[in-house]
Amino acid sequence: MTTVRYAPSPTGRLHLGNARPALMNWLFAKSTGGRYILRLDDTDAARSTEAFAEGIHTDLSWLGIVPDLKVRQSDRTALYGAARDKLIAAGRLYPAYETEEELDSKRARARLLGRPPVYDRAALQLTPEQRAKYEAEGRKPHWRFKLDGRPVAFNDLIKGPQIVNTASMSDPVLVRADGSYLYTLPSVVDDIELSITHVIRGEDHVSNTGTQIEIFEALGGQVPNFAHHNLLTGADGEGLSKRLGSLSLQELREAGYEPMAVAMAAVLTGTSLPLEPYPDLSALGQVFTLEAVSHGSARFDPAELSSLNARILHQMPYDAARPRLEALGFASEPLWLALRGNLAVFADIVDLATLVSGPVTPVVADEDRDFLRAARELLPAEPWDETTWSKWTEAVKTATGRKGRALFHPLRLAVTGREQGPELKSLLPLVGRTECLARLP
Ligand code: GLU
Repeated sequence: MTTVRYAPSPTGRLHLGNARPALMNWLFAKSTGGRYILRLDDTDAARSTEAFAEGIHTDLSWLGIVPDLKVRQSDRTALYGAARDKLIAAGRLYPAYETEEELDSKRARARLLGRPPVYDRAALQLTPEQRAKYEAEGRKPHWRFKLDGRPVAFNDLIKGPQIVNTASMSDPVLVRADGSYLYTLPSVVDDIELSITHVIRGEDHVSNTGTQIEIFEALGGQVPNFAHHNLLTGADGEGLSKRLGSLSLQELREAGYEPMAVAMAAVLTGTSLPLEPYPDLSALGQVFTLEAVSHGSARFDPAELSSLNARILHQMPYDAARPRLEALGFASEPLWLALRGNLAVFADIVDLATLVSGPVTPVVADEDRDFLRAARELLPAEPWDETTWSKWTEAVKTATGRKGRALFHPLRLAVTGREQGPELKSLLPLVGRTECLARLP
């Protein structure tokens, strides 16, 4: 059985870039009949908050993601302790006593000598006496994982064969001096313990994967499959997290974007699939595959999100819109069908509905006054339907000799008070003859 996890840290609100792995995992799990685990990576107690954790739940359910299981790393520290001890016993985790300042000056020295600032493993050379001396001084060690120096190869399900050269990396710190865990070890322990089969995450984690595969092996765990997707960037190629403000899912929701528009922009940007509206996540899941994710960049264009949003609304069937219209107090199918084609966001319907219900301030240019009076006289008798507009304008055309824009535009300005708007053929029967008469001079 396929099992995936989405593992955000509750240290901020989710943004569009976070929606990408959240959804890719979801689509992958659903299309393979698998399980989806939401794992809150909250080992950083100082920055993780309950409010952010709740925000993540809200945002994911808004997107349509319903995890099969939710876990929190802060509930699982005993497992990490056992793994830590196992690595220590196997000689793969060693104590190091350098202070931040000492490490800084080591790095500065390496740079001066033109060497990469890789940790020199001095801690491995410490004698028991030296260690005892540090401990007596009150120093507490942090713990580093001893990389084995061989290149780590894996077959990425998006990027193809990868090799991570861990020989050029510093032995990573897995446990801080205060005993708390950095992200690397808990992630592997959870992936083993929760039987994760596929790790789908951003390509900023590729080198972590090299380290983590070594840890999986050192712990005797099953190494999952990995898929690293390209990261969404702005038009200038800069990461989206830098613009969190305007692209947090919360703000996109509040700005009126449909969750499916956001989901499609998050998933389909930077893939070989066209950026087209799909009615729901399961329809999107039928076209999405990991192979479709491109190896190049994934530039997000806000105009595309707006266009997707509009297209979703323009195609939205009345049944889907009805509960939302009911909440606004004007659920009517003809009204929806007449107005949906002019929506940028759903809430625009409130303003557009005033074209039917009024009040409308007719716009009448002096030079059109006589023309409009003539048109008023020619308004067809009721009942009105979708043919009324063409019957009326034909009659007005014959009587006044006007055609094209000179014919249609003054009528639109008078009947709707606006330069542009919904098709008059659909609008007119909704406005009705009495109200129409009132809007004509
Ligand atoms: N908490 C990590 C992050 O947000 C999870 C990465 C992973 O999927 O392993 O980057």
